[in-house]
Amino acid sequence: MDFASDNASGASPEVMAAIVAANAGFAPAYGADPWTQAAERRIADVFERECAVFLVATGTASNALALASLTPPWGAAFCHPDSHVMGDECGAPEFFSAGAKLVPVGGEGGKIDAGALREALDAFPRGVAKLVQPSALSLSQATESGSLYTPDEVAGLAGLAHERGVGVHMDGARFANALVALGCTPAQLTWRAGVDVLSLGASKNGTLACEAVVIFDPARAQDLVFRRKRSGHTLSKGRLLGAQMEAWLRDGHWLALARHANDCAAQLAAGLRDAPGVRTPWPTAVNEVFAVLPGAVDAALRAAGARYYDWPARRLPAALAPRGAERFVRLVTSFATSPQDVARFVEIAAGAGKD
Ligand SMILES: *Cc1c(COP(=O)(O)O)cnc(C)c1O
Repeated sequence: MDFASDNASGASPEVMAAIVAANAGFAPAYGADPWTQAAERRIADVFERECAVFLVATGTASNALALASLTPPWGAAFCHPDSHVMGDECGAPEFFSAGAKLVPVGGEGGKIDAGALREALDAFPRGVAKLVQPSALSLSQATESGSLYTPDEVAGLAGLAHERGVGVHMDGARFANALVALGCTPAQLTWRAGVDVLSLGASKNGTLACEAVVIFDPARAQDLVFRRKRSGHTLSKGRLLGAQMEAWLRDGHWLALARHANDCAAQLAAGLRDAPGVRTPWPTAVNEVFAVLPGAVDAALRAAGARYYDWPARRLPAALAPRGAERFVRLVTSFATSPQDVARFVEIAAGAGKD
């Protein structure tokens, strides 16, 4: 019953098999290999257009390099206060952009509010020498609160950004989960809605360690080959990255993995909603369930060996915040989650809440 995060699971067997197969023999280094080229072709197919693809080993590198492609050192990158780029990357976006300022723009449920974005853009007029210059907007899809932007919402926010000459980045650590939940195409959710650069996350959903920076505007891509090398993310045995990405995208494998994770989360959320005393303050859209647990339920689950994290209660509206011994927690499912473990977790929660 490990619901700590979707990266608590390993890689999918298909991806591992692809790594083992690509491991045999010799191939050109640094990404000039047939596996990487096949992965690039798959990404172009999936997104229905040519794009520049840069494979890296971590999501933090992917986000930081993507943002660096959009902002000069004196730029402002707008992002949600709860976003991964803001709170979980140890300053990597600032470091790789050589100094850009991250500017928080709030909104309920982890989503940037359009009115708040307008105000933030107004606060940084272009050409004022004492102010950082508006350069990038970063949207997490799905968000760190497990919510989603519809393609129309992405287009609305991207429109505001583009009016001011601001480029749009999407942190897609859970892009596949968002995609299957929304039932739209990868193109609809990205470049057709105004996304310029996507961090296509894969490690949380089945690769061993492989993420892709996908740049839809080739003009933005020219520096990234140097930025990636300089960051230490141009792997010499690049074929082992290419093999992962190629296998992950082959025959819709990535979507099947994400669908399983989302289905397990839906099962978990439905079970918890019926458990006495448990509240689920946010709707479950993807593979993350947020719950307020009575203290006794939390204790029984942890005693049974369940793993999950407490989540900051300040992210909830006051009316929904935990009271007394209640705990606000995040439960994350993955492609490897077993429905039996979910059922057992729900059964323990329901039993403990009755006492
Ligand atoms: C996990 C995650 C990332 C990437 O994290 P790494 O640990 O650097 O791979 C990026 N954004 C979000 C929203 C995430 O949840």
